[in-house]
Amino acid sequence: MTTKTPITIARGDGIGPEIMDATLNIMAAAGAQLDIEEIEIGKAVYESGIKNGIADSSWASLKRTKVFLKSPITTPQGGGFKSLNVTIRKSLSLYANVRPCVAYAPFVETSHPKMDLVIVRENEEDLYGGIEYRQSQDVMASLKIISRPGTERICLYAFEYARANGRKKVTCMTKDNIMKLSDGLFHKVFDEVGALYPDIEKEHMIIDIGTAKVAAHPEMFDVIVTTNLYGDIISDVAAEVTGSVGLGGSSNIGLDFAMFEAVHGSAPDIAGKGIANPSGLLLGAVMMLVHIGQGKVAADIHNAWLKTIEDGIHTGEIYREGNSKKKVGTDAFSKAVIERLAQKPSVLKPVDYSKAPSGGLILPALQPRKEAMKERVGVDIGINWDGSPDDLANKVLSCVNDNLELQMISNRGTKVWPKGNPDTFCADNWRLRFMGKDGSTVKTSQIIALMDRMNKADLNFTKSSMLSTYDGVPGFTVAQGE
Ligand code: NAD
Repeated sequence: MTTKTPITIARGDGIGPEIMDATLNIMAAAGAQLDIEEIEIGKAVYESGIKNGIADSSWASLKRTKVFLKSPITTPQGGGFKSLNVTIRKSLSLYANVRPCVAYAPFVETSHPKMDLVIVRENEEDLYGGIEYRQSQDVMASLKIISRPGTERICLYAFEYARANGRKKVTCMTKDNIMKLSDGLFHKVFDEVGALYPDIEKEHMIIDIGTAKVAAHPEMFDVIVTTNLYGDIISDVAAEVTGSVGLGGSSNIGLDFAMFEAVHGSAPDIAGKGIANPSGLLLGAVMMLVHIGQGKVAADIHNAWLKTIEDGIHTGEIYREGNSKKKVGTDAFSKAVIERLAQKPSVLKPVDYSKAPSGGLILPALQPRKEAMKERVGVDIGINWDGSPDDLANKVLSCVNDNLELQMISNRGTKVWPKGNPDTFCADNWRLRFMGKDGSTVKTSQIIALMDRMNKADLNFTKSSMLSTYDGVPGFTVAQGE
């Protein structure tokens, strides 16, 4: 007797219940061995007053099964609601978001028939930490966090994924020409990890030109690994370029947990009409079946689905006269897939998941941290100020004593003192950089004493950031124009 794998499902909002029914019917017909627990998430839960859209009792099911097949949900606008997707990804440490984006030409209309790429997006860090501050009347700031272990893990995942799936190249995308420390670290760790995979081609692109290339020449790419925000944007560009957002499935992989879903949202404009394409969630479910070791069932479903697409049986959003043969709704589409369960596509490439490891990819251990010599060399202090940079400097200079010197003042990242350009526009939040005199190290007590004098001079603080060197290398950037 085959043992059933426990999984948790949620039907979600909008078209969610319709596409979940279709997906469950196809998996049952294909012989998937699943022990299904259902939880409620989304709109109704938000409206019951639970701000993150998931009740405490639902976490128990997720922690028990560790595998979650999730329909899209509708996130209410405003009202202090938190994104359920971000909550789940972060609470369960689902560090890798994997989105295959494939063209199904000539059966689904696309300008890029050869496109077949996978985006591996870091899922926990970057600007999605949601660490934001109002720093003054006029200025808001968001903190971008990139860690070495987080980056190493996502890069290892991308290379292991490439190797396990017979892919030849991994492209890293960052903006390290501007964000030299955060994106610079991502690029550096990508190079270090890439060196462990001599069999796989490596390249790096700046994200702006990289995104343009994905839109115009997606066939250039194989696996793309990138940070959270860039990955969010580029994966929607790539999904759209395949021909329809309705066709993309995605997985969110953690060390212990995994969540599988469609790329698209809850499509409230077509909800309840029975016309939604269930393919995104179905392909998410295929990734889930591979993950839980039911690769044969996964391949049977995927091949039957490819054959259905190839036979021109299409839901409305991909139906085109000439290309398609029959326009169907959600239910008829799922029945067509079920009818083709023993078949393989003849033009599109059939899939084979027989070698996929159960439980997902196993990553090599992360490198032990190389401890660098850290020395405090200064401090940046944020100040609210409505006057000129010179007046601010004069006021601050009277607070500086022998240990620290005021090195520069910047506004919105551009140096405005000393010798600033009078044409630089200044908002009401200023950054003052104090360094130890003659390169000397700086003690916390010296900084506290300086801030005490500034406080007595009625200067209005917004934040402070310690400045350190690591093995002599500055752990901070210089201002524009410094
Ligand atoms: P959407 O993806 O729901 O819809 C965009 C367009 O694509 C619509 O015209 C829709 O009809 C169409 N579409 C989407 N899926 C389709 C399918 N399976 N078959 C046929 N057509 C399909 O994006 P949106 O309108 O920006 O967002 C709607 C809601 O979904 C919002 O509340 C948003 O927050 C939420 N959302 C949820 C998730 C998720 O739960 N993972 C992801 C994205 C958006």
